[in-house]
Amino acid sequence: MNYHVDEHGYYGEFGGMFIPEMLFPNVEELRNSYLSIIQSDAFKKEFEGLLTDYVGRPTPLYFANRLSEKYQTNIYIKREDLNHTGAHKVNNTIGQILLAKKLNKKKIIAETGAGQHGVATATVCALMGMECKVFMGQVDTVRQRPNVERMKMLGAEVIPVTSGSQTLKDATNEALRYWIGHPDDTHYIIGSVVGPHPYPDMVARFQSIISKEIRAQLMVKTGKGLPNKVIACVGGGSNAIGAFYEFIDEPEVELIAVEAGGEGVKSGRSAATTALGSTGVLHGSKTLLMQDEDGQVIEPHSISAGLDYPGIGPQHAHLFATGRATFLNATDEEAMVAGMELTREEGIIPAIESAHAFAALKMLNFSKDEVVVVNLSGRGDKDLEAYINWGKY
Ligand SMILES: *Cc1c(COP(=O)(O)O)cnc(C)c1O
Repeated sequence: MNYHVDEHGYYGEFGGMFIPEMLFPNVEELRNSYLSIIQSDAFKKEFEGLLTDYVGRPTPLYFANRLSEKYQTNIYIKREDLNHTGAHKVNNTIGQILLAKKLNKKKIIAETGAGQHGVATATVCALMGMECKVFMGQVDTVRQRPNVERMKMLGAEVIPVTSGSQTLKDATNEALRYWIGHPDDTHYIIGSVVGPHPYPDMVARFQSIISKEIRAQLMVKTGKGLPNKVIACVGGGSNAIGAFYEFIDEPEVELIAVEAGGEGVKSGRSAATTALGSTGVLHGSKTLLMQDEDGQVIEPHSISAGLDYPGIGPQHAHLFATGRATFLNATDEEAMVAGMELTREEGIIPAIESAHAFAALKMLNFSKDEVVVVNLSGRGDKDLEAYINWGKY
């Protein structure tokens, strides 16, 4: 079984390039050049140098003593929360801005929902002295005001989008429209393993640093590089693919993806795509998404803005359809409880997105000697208000 992208840009039946004809030149340019650029020695040297000196990699793989005791197993936490800007997203934006430079692009555009990807993009644009426009739904600019101000401080122009429901999917559409009009000098940095080929594969490769490090760190700590289970949360799926990547072709490693159940899978307010979705086209690729009978995208709901996405990347759809990965979902409440558990057991306040991955600990059975890795995709500073409003601590 091939779990990776094929020469046509597909993962099994998922993936591809479903884009308007006018976008073809932009995406085609990327498709023709991304592998030769990112596999070149010069690119790797620059990418790895920035990950080390700017982002602070490698991030620790921490043996969680008290949590391991509680669940009677061996739990290791991959600390992506300790990256510069507080999450895994910067691994991808560093990679893409270096690629944009090699393609002689002068300007960067991005879409953002909660503002996390917008901030990670504005950060690397400041780092490289490049012009940055971030498209954001008008509703989201109000809900996520601190991130709007962060982006402005970093020198980005935040463009509020007033079409449709004025949220992430409308911001994405607007960014694509802008890109059609500015193909020569502009690169579009997509924030997860979604979008038309080659984005899902390109972003997966940039995020694969997470599992490369896990493998090397486990080798040192346990004498073998393969864990028994890897657990990660899934919005679009970039931190999860990053944590899975090295292990996808190692069948003895169980891959566990955790989606946002919101107020419950049957509540009508959920973001659990594999439980509720069906095959369709979203943001340029064929994948699983939440849609009504007419093919209209259903607005997702999750307490964590980063998981509030109506689809998953095409590689995840393939991992789900083939049974290679197990998909679970955690409700808002289960995630908050798990976030508090990590806070009290280990002194680490997680992003609410990442707390969904920890909620899976209660849903799985472990043996005493197995090795379990949980990917802690981001830190909880941005979520303080949500924790306060929840109030149970
Ligand atoms: C954005 C975000 C996510 C969700 O995005 P993926 O592409 O699914 O990884 C998860 N965790 C954190 C901390 C985020 O900021």
